[in-house]
Amino acid sequence: MLTVEQALARCLAAALPVRAEAIDPAVAAGRVLAQDVVAPSPLPPWDNSAMDGYAVRSADLAQGGPAGTCDHPAADGPGVELQVLETIAAGKVGQHAVRPGTCARIMTGAPLPQGADAVVMREDATVLPGSPERVLLRGGARPGQHVRPRGEELMPGDLVLRAGATLGPGHVGLLAHLGLDRVEVARQPLVAVVSTGDELVAPGRPLGPGQIHASNGQALCAWIEAAGARALDCGVAPDTLEGTRAAFRRALDAGCDLLLSSGGVSVGDFDFVKEALGEVGAAMDFWKVAVKPGKPLAFGTIGGVPAFGLPGNPVSCQVEFLLFVRPILRRSMGDPRPFLPVLDATFVEGFRKAPGRAELVRVRLSFDPDGRLVAHSTGDQGSGMGSSMAQAHGFALIARESAGVPPGTTVPVQVFDWSFSAGEQPGLRWAGHA
Ligand code: AMP
Ligand code: MG
Repeated sequence: MLTVEQALARCLAAALPVRAEAIDPAVAAGRVLAQDVVAPSPLPPWDNSAMDGYAVRSADLAQGGPAGTCDHPAADGPGVELQVLETIAAGKVGQHAVRPGTCARIMTGAPLPQGADAVVMREDATVLPGSPERVLLRGGARPGQHVRPRGEELMPGDLVLRAGATLGPGHVGLLAHLGLDRVEVARQPLVAVVSTGDELVAPGRPLGPGQIHASNGQALCAWIEAAGARALDCGVAPDTLEGTRAAFRRALDAGCDLLLSSGGVSVGDFDFVKEALGEVGAAMDFWKVAVKPGKPLAFGTIGGVPAFGLPGNPVSCQVEFLLFVRPILRRSMGDPRPFLPVLDATFVEGFRKAPGRAELVRVRLSFDPDGRLVAHSTGDQGSGMGSSMAQAHGFALIARESAGVPPGTTVPVQVFDWSFSAGEQPGLRWAGHA
């Protein structure tokens, strides 16, 4: 039987090549960048004021005393009187050069007028009566004070973002700020999900004898979208060869980039997934992986479309998705790190197992009073218990050949839910208290 690593390597080898599309950065949050982004022009585009105040020649204020800041107003010096030439609002350009003895009133973000090399903030200024307008400026001015120089953030050609980055709101803002209205991102693979099982009833409908509510299709579609791909729920196929085959055909005809099924993949009398995959032209790669939960796992390709027969048990189904399918999807979107992150945590209960299969134990994560990460088992690890997936933050990864780990062992935990990192205490904490 293949190990997890062997199976994963084969899955990743079938990842689709990244296909790019150009979209508006405004709707690109969550997408994976398919191009390096280079600054097309300097940021900021010109020297501008960081304050509402007065654009001055710093040499004029050399005698005015130490410079002030927002939090520490300038010491009272005698101040320097200057003539105010004009007011420059954000979005306007000054009409006059600042000559010795003059200044311009300037708003935050407005271009620094010619001749000026510093800004005195409004809080350090007193407008004097009379005409032409004059102002008394206290506190002196260093060259460059309260000025944001052209290109201080980025110069043309600077690498801003690398291909493979998953875009977040901060990236969206930066791309827009760079003036870009188009950005190349990876196309989102379309993943078709076929559920199998005569016992399955749609949520919302009453259950007849022997029936259960279908949940794998719903969970898989949600995981697919959480991974950044698009899901196509193809509904429930009956437990017949013809029915399963027809459902696969429909999914492929819909143009899916990847095909998933749940259930019907083991050795039961009504398990038709393997046969149906063969009949729609799948070249099968493997049927089983040495992993628990979820030993039966079919993988192959149908004319280049990767196809997975996932197990029917709700936990197995989701575990195999996260372990094998998600990395393929992320790789197909150009993510250079397609795997869920792994953190070390102290496994409070430990875990006993038989050697032979790697085990993924559902755990809840939290921090102990010393700030160390602690993992608690979600309890019964039955592969049918979907509630263990709903409670868990991650999987403690226990090696195939191991007989388990005693309580208190540090174990790697693959994390899929980061809500634990918010901690128990609501609100903010700050470093650097006196
Ligand atoms: P199977 O692999 O088809 O034998 O299914 C294994 C177990 O998973 C059985 O108890 C099924 O009822 C259950 N199961 C299969 N498909 C689903 C589904 N879509 N939603 C919830 N449970 C399912
Ligand atoms: Mg079944």
